[in-house]
Amino acid sequence: MQLGPRVQTHIDFMKDGKQLGALDVPHSRNDSAWGAVMVPIGCIKNGEGPTVLLTAGNHGDEYEGQVALTRLLRRLDADDVSGRIIVIPALNLPAARAGTRVSPIDGGNMNRIFPGRRDGNVTQMIAHYVETVLLPMVDVALDIHSGGTSLEFVPSVVMHHLADRAQAKSTYEALKAFGAPVGLVLEELDSAGMLDVSVEEKGKIFLSTEVGGAARVGVGALEVAERGVDNILKHFRVIPGEPDVRGDTRLLDVKDRSHYVRAPASGLYAPRVSLGDWVSEGDVVGEIVDVRDPTGPSRELVAEASGLVWGVRALARTEVGDTVTVLASELDPTRLGV
Ligand SMILES: [Zn+2]
Repeated sequence: MQLGPRVQTHIDFMKDGKQLGALDVPHSRNDSAWGAVMVPIGCIKNGEGPTVLLTAGNHGDEYEGQVALTRLLRRLDADDVSGRIIVIPALNLPAARAGTRVSPIDGGNMNRIFPGRRDGNVTQMIAHYVETVLLPMVDVALDIHSGGTSLEFVPSVVMHHLADRAQAKSTYEALKAFGAPVGLVLEELDSAGMLDVSVEEKGKIFLSTEVGGAARVGVGALEVAERGVDNILKHFRVIPGEPDVRGDTRLLDVKDRSHYVRAPASGLYAPRVSLGDWVSEGDVVGEIVDVRDPTGPSRELVAEASGLVWGVRALARTEVGDTVTVLASELDPTRLGV
């Protein structure tokens, strides 16, 4: 016998109207024997149409999407919608409340844990609910990420290289409609356990983002996220109107490990380039300064590839091996096979 999820909710996803509630995730602990983690969720449904799943707080210290989706739930009503929008502003709620990337309860990284486990820890149970209850209903999923505490990115909408041409074309059309300054096409170094792959493997449309970061909510990053969410809903005709796209989305990709500049030593990271700068192979992008060793050798960081400075480390204190700069190259859309 197939057991249903242990996560429960009062929301009826088949019912028309606007419902706000929670995913009730059992969490028995010393100070609450029959306790639960209550993950906020909203469902806004009106008649027939596609189902769009909007998530943020997959990583708890990425705040722009959490703000954008909470405000979306406040302002959208069922009358505005044709179809169904399911919104989870803080998918890994314990991490979001702690302001950490992973859950403080069980150490779970939500984006490395799909398809989750029915009898797993809190993070695994949430993933299992998304996988087994929500994804079968979903046509389109948008998961809003950003640089979190340690990184900051040029606000970008993100898709993967996809083998299926029709799926790649539909995803690319949605990426353009999102309307971010940069559209990044990723080949994940390690895709095991990602929500992204779980959605893509079901043949559905998936987009994520990397908007802003540095443990804050930047004006520009939030604007890109909020307009992007509206644009996706408009693109799939779930809310009325045409996507408000301001200028072309510059298509880039992060080709391989040569595009990640990593610290060769521990110390303070002093960048010489800013987000959005163009660097050529051999350029110095920054320096690691060790305050204990003023007579020691200069630890300059040299770009091993040419590209746009797409991501930078947001923290000065740096350990050997930390990524301090991410470079992105121009990408010809024909390489997507669309
Ligand atoms: Zn993230």
